[in-house]
Amino acid sequence: MDFRRLPSTFGPDGTASSKQHLACIVVNDEIAIDAGSLAMAADDKLRSQLRNIVLTHAHLDHIAGLPLFVDDLYASLSSPIIIHALQEVIDVLERDVFNWAVFPRFSELNIGSGPAIEYRPIKPREKFEVCELTFQSFPSDHKVPSAGYLVSDGGSTVAITGDTATLDGLSDVLSAAKDIKALLVECAFPNELVEIARSSHHMTPTILGSELENLKPSCPVYVCNIKPGYRDKVVMQLEDLAIQNLEIMAVGKPYSW
Ligand SMILES: [Zn+2]
Repeated sequence: MDFRRLPSTFGPDGTASSKQHLACIVVNDEIAIDAGSLAMAADDKLRSQLRNIVLTHAHLDHIAGLPLFVDDLYASLSSPIIIHALQEVIDVLERDVFNWAVFPRFSELNIGSGPAIEYRPIKPREKFEVCELTFQSFPSDHKVPSAGYLVSDGGSTVAITGDTATLDGLSDVLSAAKDIKALLVECAFPNELVEIARSSHHMTPTILGSELENLKPSCPVYVCNIKPGYRDKVVMQLEDLAIQNLEIMAVGKPYSW
C-alpha cells in the first residue's frame, strides 16, 4: 500500500512546508484518511479518482478540505463522494458544515445518479471494505467521538491513531493484527504544554514515549499531527527521548508498506 501525507502549508517560494496545519493522508491515490488539506493539495490524478474519504473525527483540521473538495468536483461527478465515519461525526458534518448556512447540503444535491455525498456510518471495531482494502476501526481517546483505523491489503497492515491522548484502544487490535508494517501516531504538543495536551486529549513526547513503552509495537512508528507552531520543539524533544524505530512522517513523501 502507498501512503502519502498531503501538504497544507507552503513556504514563500510556494514549496510544501514540513509544518502541517491540516491532516490528510492519501492511500493508493484513491482513499483519503481525513480531508484537512484534500481540496488544497489534490492534484488532477487525485481529483479524478479519489472518491472515498475515511474520517477519524470532525475537528476542523481534519475536515477543512472536505466541503471544498466536494464543491470543486460537484459539476463533474459521475459517482458520489463516499464518506466513511462514525455516526456522531456524520451528524456534526450535516448539522454544522453541510447545513446551507456554512456550505451547501451536498447529501441533498443530485448528480444524476443520486446525491453528491453518500455517508457510510461505521461502528467501533467494525471492519469495512474500501477500494479492496480492509479497514478496521478502533476507539481513540480524544475530546470528541473519534476513531483510529487499521488498514490492510491482506498482506500488510498499517495502524493510524488520529488524534488521541493515549494508545489504549490500540493494544487489542494491534496484537490481533498480522504483518503490522507501520504505526502512525499523533504528538501534538511539547512537554511544557502537558496541561493543554491533557485537557484537549492530545499527547506530548513524554506521554507518547510512555504509551509506546506500554504498547511495545513491533513495527516502526511515524509521528504525524504535530501542531505547526510547536513542531521544532516537539521534534527536538522526541529526538532527546531516542525512541527506537520512531521518526517523523514526512509531508509529501510516498511510503510503501
Ligand atoms: Zn482533533
